[in-house]
Amino acid sequence: MNKERIVFVSHCLLNQSVRAGESFTPLATQKLLKFFSNYPIYIYQLPCPEFLFAGKREKKTQDIWENLAGFQGFLSSLAADVQEATERILEDKKLLIIAIARSPCCSAHKIYRGKNLTKGKGLWVLELEKRLKCNIIEFDFKRVNESLERIKEFLDKTG
Ligand code: SF4
Repeated sequence: MNKERIVFVSHCLLNQSVRAGESFTPLATQKLLKFFSNYPIYIYQLPCPEFLFAGKREKKTQDIWENLAGFQGFLSSLAADVQEATERILEDKKLLIIAIARSPCCSAHKIYRGKNLTKGKGLWVLELEKRLKCNIIEFDFKRVNESLERIKEFLDKTG
């Protein structure tokens, strides 16, 4: 077992039932799990901040989440919980976080603000970055194979 790498996956990659608008991408989770089985890595499932805060919900843009009373404080305290809970398993391992394309909380590059897809990170990713030293790669539910290629590139490079 290579003890140097650990992957923190966005919650919905393993459990799509938490996705907003009841989105579901057939085979995405199956393909990801099959892909991971080729690598000697540790995997940790991050909590889904939106589901924990609001349960089943429709899709919202980032500006709406940002202005929901109590949400920013909730994210900050959830990120502190994750930091505390993973401190001992992280040690000096190389950490990769798998973010979710276009998610208002979990994106690493672009988010919707109003009707515009604009440059920016998800609110949850920003909180995690404050506390964890990590590399971040995005998984796009609309481009599963490309996403797996990106993760493969990282894992092969750091193996
Ligand atoms: S992208 Fe993030 S907030 Fe959205 S369902 Fe997945 S884990 Fe939850």
